[in-house]
Amino acid sequence: MVSRRSPGASLVRAVYRALDRAYDYEAWHWSPARLRAPFDVIGGAVLVQHTTWANAERALDGLRAAGALDSRALAALPEERIAGLVRVSGTPTVKARRLRAVAAAVERAGGLGALFALPTGALRAALLAMHGIGPETADAILLYAAGRRVFEVDAYAQRLFRRLGAGPEGAGYAAWQHWFEGALPDADVEAFRRYHAYIVMHAKQLCRATPVCVPCPLLPRCAEGRRRTSGVPAAAAP
Ligand code: SF4
Repeated sequence: MVSRRSPGASLVRAVYRALDRAYDYEAWHWSPARLRAPFDVIGGAVLVQHTTWANAERALDGLRAAGALDSRALAALPEERIAGLVRVSGTPTVKARRLRAVAAAVERAGGLGALFALPTGALRAALLAMHGIGPETADAILLYAAGRRVFEVDAYAQRLFRRLGAGPEGAGYAAWQHWFEGALPDADVEAFRRYHAYIVMHAKQLCRATPVCVPCPLLPRCAEGRRRTSGVPAAAAP
C-alpha cells in the first residue's frame, strides 16, 4: 500500500500545486458554478465517450431542451427518439441504448436519491452493473455527482504521471487508483474534483499526445519533458 512516504507522494502534491496555479477550475464543466444537476454528470459521462466535451454538451443541451435530462423522462423515451436527440455526440444508437439503460437502472433503484444513498462500494458496484458504465465513468459519477472521495485515474492522468516518471508497479486502472489515492491521504472530495479537472485541462492544452513542453509548468519535474526539450534551460521548480 502506498503511504504518505511513498516515492510518488511529494510529486503528486507538487503537481497539484502547479496545476492549481495554472488552470481555472471555474472553467471546468463540472465545477460547482457550472454543474446544474447530478444527472447531468451521468448523462455527460456517457455522452462524452469517444467524443469531445463540446459535442457531449451539445447533446446534453438537446436532451435538456426536450425535457429528457432526468432518469424518469429518459427511461420512458424510445431509443430512437433518444438517438435523435444525442446524434451530435456520435454513435447515437449506442449512446441512446446506454442512456436509456442507465436511466432505467436508476429508476429501478428508486431514483437518483435512493441510489446515491448507498455506501460507496455498493454504489460503485451498482453503477458498474449498468450497461455502458465502466470504471472511469463510474468513478466520474461517484466523484462529481455523488460526492464520494474516489479519484478517476483516467488515461490522461496515467499518461501524465508516466511522463513525469511516476506511477504504481501494476499497470491496471485499480493499481493506478490505489497509488494515486494513497499519495493524497488528506485530500477531500473537492480536492479530488479539482485535481481531476486540472489533469484533463492540462492534457488538452499542453500534455497532449504530442506534448507542448516548453511552456509547461511541470517541465522542471518531468522526465519526458526534459528529454523532449534537452538544450532548453530549465525554469525554477513550481
Ligand atoms: S513537460 Fe511536457 S510531457 Fe511533461 S507534463 Fe509538461 S507537457 Fe507533459
